[in-house]
Amino acid sequence: MDLHDIIIVGSGPAGTAAALQLAGGDVLLLDAGFTSPKIPKNFCGDLYHLRKKELNLFPSLVGDNFESLANLFTDKKINLKLKSPYMSYIIRNWKMLSHIDSTSFEGVVSLAKGGLANAWGAGVFRYTDEDLKEFPISYVDLEPYYDRLTEHVGISGVNDDLSPWFQQDKGLLPPIRLCGMAADLMERYIAAREFFNTEGIFMGLARLAVLTVKHRGRAPYAYDHMEFFRPNIEAIYTPAFTLDELVCEGRVTYNPGWLVERFEEIDGGVQVCARPVNGGEASFFKCRKLLLGAGALNTARIVLASARDNVTLLPIMDNPMSCFPVFRLDRLGRVIEPEDASVGQLNIIYEGEEDVGTVQGSFMAPMALYARM
Ligand SMILES: Cc1cc2nc3c(=O)[nH]c(=O)nc-3n(C[C@H](O)[C@H](O)[C@H](O)COP(=O)(O)OP(=O)(O)OC[C@H]3O[C@@H](n4cnc5c(N)ncnc54)[C@H](O)[C@@H]3O)c2cc1C
Repeated sequence: MDLHDIIIVGSGPAGTAAALQLAGGDVLLLDAGFTSPKIPKNFCGDLYHLRKKELNLFPSLVGDNFESLANLFTDKKINLKLKSPYMSYIIRNWKMLSHIDSTSFEGVVSLAKGGLANAWGAGVFRYTDEDLKEFPISYVDLEPYYDRLTEHVGISGVNDDLSPWFQQDKGLLPPIRLCGMAADLMERYIAAREFFNTEGIFMGLARLAVLTVKHRGRAPYAYDHMEFFRPNIEAIYTPAFTLDELVCEGRVTYNPGWLVERFEEIDGGVQVCARPVNGGEASFFKCRKLLLGAGALNTARIVLASARDNVTLLPIMDNPMSCFPVFRLDRLGRVIEPEDASVGQLNIIYEGEEDVGTVQGSFMAPMALYARM
């Protein structure tokens, strides 16, 4: 059995960012690694105009098995972005392979190449010293790695009123073009900025891992609002892009199809036990150093299983989301703007009451919703 310098488990943002930094050495990335189904060639372009063509979009938008309507049939709701026929692979088989038993917690696990970030809104935020105050590291320790990721990933946005919460970022690409409603909101905020700031409200443009110009060979965002239905859109970063690049350059060895169960420390290193995702005998992999990036829940599961510990209760922080529809009556009846972005537009910070802490909101454009109606 080969002894690798490093084994990384998981190809989500955590595992892949580690692989990027360590690439070039003897790095093996073990991953469950499900990939997207084949997508029909004619399912491309702008969703609004696609709907105007006489194509049968039912298999792509709703799904032959009514996948997009899954929330009607299940007691636990699935995020909108994880249901549609070509996106549901992101959480394929997680209940069978990585079950979570909970009545009070809406956990979800991805066993896909690229992890949950295949569906993310791509809003990317640097930690500040305030966020890290309970950690043994501070922002200056992370800054060079953030800078490298900003360059590698390509992040659009501006350093504006939200910089105290998101940090100053030197390498930002131009921001995404705002939809009419977001542009109106921003204009009104700027006009009454002093009032809002005294009330503890600060607004700025979203910082997104979404390209607005060509960057490292990837095309910019096409304002086609396909991101609820089509995975691996070049402009919207997923860690799978980095992994493909590293594998292609021969700087990392990628071994998908393995569900890591546990590890144990052995003389001179670590032995990792994994089972094929399709069932079968367990195999063992050896390394000097092991990095677990299997998502918060599965990383904790692997650590507890390795310690044969099924009594310790670990604290968990859920991040529940509340959604509010925003209507502007004066926009009713206006001509639709089919080439808007569906990605995040604005971020809002509220630093009001001391005992509440910082509250963050995002303003999303409604185009993806119109386009589906
Ligand atoms: C709809 C949606 C929108 C989101 N929007 C944003 C956003 O705008 N901004 C943001 O910052 N975050 C967002 N997130 C959250 C973000 O996607 C996650 O925080 C992030 O993906 C976590 O990264 P990770 O690498 O820790 O784990 P994951 O992305 O969960 O990846 C886990 C990886 O580990 C592998 N794996 C898991 N278990 C095993 C095992 N036992 N053996 C082998 N491999 C294993 C999987 O195959 C996968 O590759 C969003 C999430 C969702 C679902």
